[in-house]
Amino acid sequence: MSSISLSNVTKTFGGADVIKGVDLSIEDGELVVFVGPSGCGKSTLLRLISGLEEISGGEIHLGEKRVDHLSASARDIAMVFQSYALYPHMTVADNIGFPLKMAGKSKTGIEEKTREIGTILQLLPLFDRTPKQLSGGQRQRVAIGRALARDPQIILLDEPLSNLDAALRVDMRMELARLHRDLKATMIYVTHDQVEAMTLADRIVVLRDGIVEQVGSPLDLYLKPVNQFVAGFIGSPR
Ligand code: ADP
Ligand code: MG
Repeated sequence: MSSISLSNVTKTFGGADVIKGVDLSIEDGELVVFVGPSGCGKSTLLRLISGLEEISGGEIHLGEKRVDHLSASARDIAMVFQSYALYPHMTVADNIGFPLKMAGKSKTGIEEKTREIGTILQLLPLFDRTPKQLSGGQRQRVAIGRALARDPQIILLDEPLSNLDAALRVDMRMELARLHRDLKATMIYVTHDQVEAMTLADRIVVLRDGIVEQVGSPLDLYLKPVNQFVAGFIGSPR
């Protein structure tokens, strides 16, 4: 587990300022949800934290360690995307164990870890299937399982449920809440679904056009939105 701290983080793409000086402290074990309109920089911010994209300015610390100069693989962060790409010719078990195989873990080590994850995510009965024999929700669970394989301290999820139908999203949301309780990992969860944000988050970060508008508990934001924009996103009607 690890805290995450961003100070004055900026990102420029070809002259366009996309992230405009973000300060943010996320506590060890916290589940923080990013919300904001399409194009406001949610995915970019996750990619900067995970190291898939380089920052243009500022600093990122994980725990005590400054990491913004480190490669993605040196940061011990797992990412789950909306469009999860499983290996179609591999079984569920092999998909989950693949990162461990790449890391050179022993066969028994891989089996042990894969079973542990399969138990947590209730995937054991599906272990011998291939992705095309799974439902959308099951596939997304496998993608999450694969992200967990290396015991990441930090898990970043970028709209992981947005391709699923509404009923399935509710099930998966509950599963994610349970997973967060069990793993006690630090998580950032991006969504444009207000209900998802309100039910999952310890704290919500409202982003707009590359800046943080407000950070607070769901109740804080609901009752005391700092402006009309936040109110429009999650605030109480007034
Ligand atoms: P969100 O996830 O909130 O919808 P993004 O982080 O994907 O927003 O994008 C924020 C802004 O940065 C958008 O205007 C987008 O077009 C721009 N952007 C994102 N990635 C790149 C890139 N690799 N090159 C140029 N512009 C980008
Ligand atoms: Mg996005």
